[in-house]
Amino acid sequence: MMLLIFGFRPFFTALATVVFVCNFCGQNVAQQVFKQTNRFTLFFIPLFSTSTKYYVECSNCGGTTELTREQVDNMERRGLAQR
Ligand SMILES: [Zn+2]
Repeated sequence: MMLLIFGFRPFFTALATVVFVCNFCGQNVAQQVFKQTNRFTLFFIPLFSTSTKYYVECSNCGGTTELTREQVDNMERRGLAQR
Protein backbone atom coordinates (compact mmCIF):
# COMPACT_ATOMS: atom_id res chain seq x y z
CA MET A 1 0.00 0.00 0.00
CA MET A 2 1.27 3.40 -1.01
CA LEU A 3 0.77 6.18 1.48
CA LEU A 4 1.20 9.77 0.43
CA ILE A 5 2.03 12.24 3.16
CA PHE A 6 1.71 15.84 2.13
CA GLY A 7 0.93 19.19 3.65
CA PHE A 8 1.83 22.84 3.92
CA ARG A 9 4.49 24.29 6.16
CA PRO A 10 5.36 27.93 6.84
CA PHE A 11 9.01 28.98 6.70
CA PHE A 12 10.16 32.18 8.39
CA THR A 13 13.13 34.24 7.31
CA ALA A 14 14.31 37.32 9.20
CA LEU A 15 15.13 39.90 6.52
CA ALA A 16 16.21 42.98 8.44
CA THR A 17 15.78 45.14 11.48
CA VAL A 18 14.39 48.63 11.02
CA VAL A 19 13.75 51.29 13.64
CA PHE A 20 10.53 53.31 13.53
CA VAL A 21 7.63 54.36 15.72
CA CYS A 22 5.40 51.37 16.41
CA ASN A 23 1.70 51.61 15.47
CA PHE A 24 0.72 49.69 18.59
CA CYS A 25 2.83 50.97 21.49
CA GLY A 26 4.02 54.30 20.01
CA GLN A 27 7.67 53.60 20.91
CA ASN A 28 10.56 54.30 18.53
CA VAL A 29 12.10 50.82 18.71
CA ALA A 30 13.59 48.09 16.50
CA GLN A 31 11.10 46.25 14.30
CA GLN A 32 12.06 42.88 12.82
CA VAL A 33 11.08 42.39 9.18
CA PHE A 34 10.07 38.80 8.44
CA LYS A 35 9.26 36.88 5.30
CA GLN A 36 6.84 34.00 5.65
CA THR A 37 6.76 31.46 2.84
CA ASN A 38 4.25 28.65 2.78
CA ARG A 39 5.64 25.57 1.10
CA PHE A 40 3.93 22.49 -0.20
CA THR A 41 5.60 19.43 1.35
CA LEU A 42 5.61 15.81 0.24
CA PHE A 43 6.93 13.28 2.74
CA PHE A 44 8.04 16.32 4.81
CA ILE A 45 10.25 17.60 1.98
CA PRO A 46 9.39 21.15 0.90
CA LEU A 47 8.83 21.17 -2.86
CA PHE A 48 7.61 24.62 -3.86
CA SER A 49 6.30 27.88 -2.42
CA THR A 50 2.59 28.50 -2.48
CA SER A 51 2.47 31.99 -0.97
CA THR A 52 4.78 34.62 0.48
CA LYS A 53 3.91 37.22 3.09
CA TYR A 54 5.95 39.97 4.68
CA TYR A 55 5.45 41.53 8.06
CA VAL A 56 7.17 43.44 10.84
CA GLU A 57 7.18 42.52 14.51
CA CYS A 58 7.77 45.11 17.22
CA SER A 59 10.58 44.21 19.64
CA ASN A 60 8.83 46.12 22.44
CA CYS A 61 5.20 44.94 22.36
CA GLY A 62 5.30 42.07 19.83
CA GLY A 63 2.64 43.71 17.64
CA THR A 64 2.78 42.57 14.01
CA THR A 65 1.82 44.45 10.86
CA GLU A 66 1.61 42.84 7.44
CA LEU A 67 3.69 44.50 4.73
CA THR A 68 3.29 44.45 1.00
CA ARG A 69 6.15 43.44 -1.30
CA GLU A 70 6.30 47.12 -2.37
CA GLN A 71 6.81 48.32 1.22
CA VAL A 72 9.68 45.85 1.67
CA ASP A 73 11.20 47.00 -1.65
CA ASN A 74 10.91 50.64 -0.53
CA MET A 75 12.70 49.88 2.74
CA GLU A 76 15.52 48.18 0.85
CA ARG A 77 15.76 51.04 -1.65
CA ARG A 78 16.08 53.55 1.19
CA GLY A 79 18.93 51.49 2.63
CA LEU A 80 17.12 50.66 5.86
CA ALA A 81 17.07 46.93 5.32
CA GLN A 82 19.79 44.44 4.55
CA ARG A 83 19.34 40.95 3.23
ZN1 LIG B 1 5.21 48.12 19.70
